[in-house]
Amino acid sequence: MGAVAYYVVAHIDDWPLFRGEQAWIDMADPSNTVVFIYMTATDGNEGDRLWPAFEAGILQSYKQANGADFTDHDQVFNGHKIKVYINANVHTYFTRIPIDAFMRLYQSGNHATTITNDTTYTSVQDLIDTLRAILETYRIASGADHPWVNSQDPDRTLNPRDNDAHYHTGLIVQAATGTDYKKLWFVGYNVAVTD
Ligand SMILES: [Zn+2]
Repeated sequence: MGAVAYYVVAHIDDWPLFRGEQAWIDMADPSNTVVFIYMTATDGNEGDRLWPAFEAGILQSYKQANGADFTDHDQVFNGHKIKVYINANVHTYFTRIPIDAFMRLYQSGNHATTITNDTTYTSVQDLIDTLRAILETYRIASGADHPWVNSQDPDRTLNPRDNDAHYHTGLIVQAATGTDYKKLWFVGYNVAVTD
């Protein structure tokens, strides 16, 4: 296994909007393994109306980029079953936590069950431990000392006017990675502010 790079985001459109250029550079080198982890189902509050389309859309975008078909399987991390897709050197993890449940887990400590009823996260720490289990699988396999994790800057001064799901994701990444990973914190919607 060559180098590994991670993109951990709240929603499926976050890295294409705010960090797509580096993701493309990482994906274009077939010796890299590029791991995308989506901490929410992007939507998921409206039954099955939107989230399958979001997943299908991002999976098709990888296929458009690298021409490869994808396979999927379930894998267990920290006791939680997670859907994994492999598309050439691109590995994708969908937590499938509805966005409202993710926010309540973070802000009120409510348990969060996935849309597909596969598993329930009982605390933010549970989600942190699960993310770390995914990250560590690749870090250990690659033998990388401090691989790069690209995520959403949780610092509201450096990354103003972003949304709470992005900040919460950054804080979860910060807690899950400690000093074992290099972090590239990117700015969200403030990139569009010109005043
Ligand atoms: Zn977003």
